[in-house]
Amino acid sequence: MKHARKLAAALVVALTAVAAPARAQTPALTAARRARVDSLLARMTLEEKVGQMTQLTVGVFTTRDTPHRDSIRLDTAKLREGIVHRHIGSILNVEQAALTVEGWHAAIRQIQQMAMRETRLGIPILYGIDFVHGASYLRGGTIFPQNIALAATFDTALARRAGEITGGEAYASGLAWNFAPVLDVGRQPLWPRFYETFGEDPWLASLFGARQVAGMQSGGRVAATMKHYLGYSNPRSGHDRTPAYMTVREVRESYLPTFAAAVRAGARTVMVNSGEIDGEPLHASRYWLTDVLRGELGFDGVIVSDWSDIIYLNTRHHVAPTVKDAVRMAVQAGIDMSMTPYEYQFQDDLIALVREGTIPESRIDRSVRRILMLKAELGLFDHPFPDDAAASRVGGEASAAVSRQAAREAITLLKNDGGILPLRTNARILLTGPAAHSLTALNGGWTYTWQGADPSLYPDGPRTLLEAMLKRARDVRYVPGSAFTDTMDATAAARAARDADVAVVAIGEDAYAETPGNIDDLSLPEPQLRLVEAIQATGTPVVLVLVEGRPRVISRIADRARGVVMAYWPGMQGGDALAEVLFGEVNPSGKLPFTYPNSVNQLVPYDHKLSDELGPDAASAFKPRWEFGTGLSYTTFAYADLRTGAPTLHPGGTLPVTVTVRNTGQREGTEVVLLYTHQRFASLTPAVRRLRGFQRVTLKPGESRALTFTLTADDLTYVGRDGRPVLEPGVFDVMVGGLKASFTLDGAWATAAATSPSAPPHLRTPAPR
Ligand code: BGC
Repeated sequence: MKHARKLAAALVVALTAVAAPARAQTPALTAARRARVDSLLARMTLEEKVGQMTQLTVGVFTTRDTPHRDSIRLDTAKLREGIVHRHIGSILNVEQAALTVEGWHAAIRQIQQMAMRETRLGIPILYGIDFVHGASYLRGGTIFPQNIALAATFDTALARRAGEITGGEAYASGLAWNFAPVLDVGRQPLWPRFYETFGEDPWLASLFGARQVAGMQSGGRVAATMKHYLGYSNPRSGHDRTPAYMTVREVRESYLPTFAAAVRAGARTVMVNSGEIDGEPLHASRYWLTDVLRGELGFDGVIVSDWSDIIYLNTRHHVAPTVKDAVRMAVQAGIDMSMTPYEYQFQDDLIALVREGTIPESRIDRSVRRILMLKAELGLFDHPFPDDAAASRVGGEASAAVSRQAAREAITLLKNDGGILPLRTNARILLTGPAAHSLTALNGGWTYTWQGADPSLYPDGPRTLLEAMLKRARDVRYVPGSAFTDTMDATAAARAARDADVAVVAIGEDAYAETPGNIDDLSLPEPQLRLVEAIQATGTPVVLVLVEGRPRVISRIADRARGVVMAYWPGMQGGDALAEVLFGEVNPSGKLPFTYPNSVNQLVPYDHKLSDELGPDAASAFKPRWEFGTGLSYTTFAYADLRTGAPTLHPGGTLPVTVTVRNTGQREGTEVVLLYTHQRFASLTPAVRRLRGFQRVTLKPGESRALTFTLTADDLTYVGRDGRPVLEPGVFDVMVGGLKASFTLDGAWATAAATSPSAPPHLRTPAPR
């Protein structure tokens, strides 16, 4: 079983946020590491080398005799088979659910003791874990909002801080490799991993991903993983791990930039997409893995497969007639390590392929050198054992406060007719809906277990929305009303609504992860729609709170809702953060990092083409329920004086753009100011708008501020017909807060190479024209 469920809840409360000690990376140190790695490599047998390229899941090594709640009981004989006889280089995952820090230390110590003391060469094991929204497999660790919510903050400093805390807590647990962040761009809302993304905009997702990588690796003792390279997030079916059908041009325009930015931020490892693009499984793609990732982007870290995916080249994708062919194809494509993750066939096949001369041993050496260098850079040779001193510093109030702040900044006010929000604390409030009293729905997938859906594992401290509202208001009545997918007593909820001044209905999705989260209909499930309709029929004003990992279509109930608050999956502090927003203790400032569709067949992102908006009648035009960037406040803001610093931008130069924002309402508020560009005419149809700048600004009532953005030619490139970036002169519009100005880009057709040296590596490739 991949990830199992149960674990008793008990929160280890720690006092301070943990930070891994920073390690200087000097040239002398690098040379010393290289020498160590070279000397090891020279002494390794082929079996030992191939072992380093093998990663198994920890469940292979456990006793399985008793249910393990907060530790892993390792079977010494099985572990010896893997580490000593099979020479494996890496282990991943939990057996069932999150461990305590003591549980992690005991397991890692036992594993490393065997690796260091019982093997011929004493090479430490690299242990990988999915801490995907904070320390999600650590009891007492800090759990953050999911990435989709983080992106709604438009606060990249928070993304970095969350990365630092997560990296610090991985280090404190004795774990040196984190399988995060997800850099897939969320442009297909059916996809069950949508919430793991930083939304639909490649530019925004690049900034957030790069900041998180930098934060996670800042202590020098934990490697981040860019995943899942490449094009994973846009399956045609919307189901996990199913094929994407995209041109190379589109992949480069919308899906490659996040990875290019993370490579520049120093990401040490990458995990490969389990799916395929245009018939080519990524695990067999020499073009994407070697030519583009290594050649163009300059990535020199470790490429790891995803779960069983080399075998799937044979059994699922049918591009390899045998598993041995699959191993050959994956290694020739450029993969360094196989997450096998249950068996040793990868090793046997690879050894045979080398012995029979199909794969040269020099190819194996390249991968092993990368893996050993990674281990050396992470300090594992010198410090293979967990740091006892760090153990007492996971979780804690300071880190929880960062998580709370992220949730506050993420929550997005989508509708507030007649100022129904904020709620009065002395109002008679009905709270109903399946997300009203659920910690699992606030946190979503990858929380204590893979699916995140076991409430018995959650700690006692954090509050559900109900508990957080009861803390603040006198008269809150709770009636469950509906389950997430099953009907309950909506009549009882409607009856209670008649006696209430306002009904808050918390709807959406309970936790899920990966394939179990597949759906065929983006509509909110019928029982929840019926609950809201029953309450709306009473005439009591309704405020919808959307607690969901992807935008479920709610057109049937949205018009008649007086208020709508998007919570996303806001994490462990989400209940309190939501109550703070609902009662006006916090003035909301989040903005949607994706387009919220109005109907299930209108799944077009904000940066679509003008002709996407055409149709036989107005009804078929592009009409999302809420556009990308939507987000209201309890105050109002007005924009004025949008100006470009000059009429013309010359390639290589910069163009300042200024705008004045004023708080025209009654209370202090924070506005996220978004700047878009649009090329009027281009050789390939231009996007209607592309985000190219944002600033968070906090203003008191009546206060105004002039903001300056700086555009460069890099902001104006697009990927041309041949898949290479081009810069095409012409007239551009710049749009901020409903205002528009324009300027001309000077010069002749050019490639990004002609522009600033800060262009990402993949944009520097010259285009033959
Ligand atoms: C997921 C990865 C994850 C891996 C290890 C896979 O099923 O696709 O994102 O890192 O499992 O748990």
